[in-house]
Amino acid sequence: MECNIEKNKSNCTCTYEPCSRKGKCCECITYHWNMGELPGCLFPLEVERTYDRSIEKFVETYK
Ligand code: SF4
Repeated sequence: MECNIEKNKSNCTCTYEPCSRKGKCCECITYHWNMGELPGCLFPLEVERTYDRSIEKFVETYK
């Protein structure tokens, strides 16, 4: 299966630069999930910019 890294990068809303996982969504999800977090793209832009990617923040944002 071909990797869509360039396409993923162009759709990525994460503002944290530089990140070696940018466009590698599988690595991004695994990294954050292992830390009890979610990827930046699941948060609204103004919340993403705070870099608080906790599940608690996700629930607080969307409840
Ligand atoms: S959400 Fe995290 S792992 Fe994913 S691109 Fe942004 S900083 Fe990197």
